[in-house]
Amino acid sequence: MNSGSLELCHCGSQKPFGACCEPFLEGTSFPATAEELMRSRYSAYVTLNVPYIIETTSPKFRKYYSPKSIMEWASNSTWISLEILSASEKRVKFVATYLDETGQLTRHTEDSRFEQIGERWYFMDGK
Ligand SMILES: [Zn+2]
Repeated sequence: MNSGSLELCHCGSQKPFGACCEPFLEGTSFPATAEELMRSRYSAYVTLNVPYIIETTSPKFRKYYSPKSIMEWASNSTWISLEILSASEKRVKFVATYLDETGQLTRHTEDSRFEQIGERWYFMDGK
């Protein structure tokens, strides 16, 4: 156990941040499953860790994402919760709830695809 944060993790796991997504966001360890990666990417949006979001996007899909627009969207949103609806080896279905830049409560449901390259998991795309 490291000396990481004891506050509950942003991703809704009910685990301390320091024992959940924080080590992934800091690059001291890496998600072992697509679901862990998905959770850590949500935490990266909450903590505005844009480099992490880019790094954990599949190299094939990275060109579709702009760090500037991710930062604008993430920082204009008020993140409320993440709920994992289902997770299999390479797919995670989730609902992210947030207030958009106008204060509108938004529930974003997505079925995301992930791939593993070597030991690492990457987000591919979602619909
Ligand atoms: Zn977490």
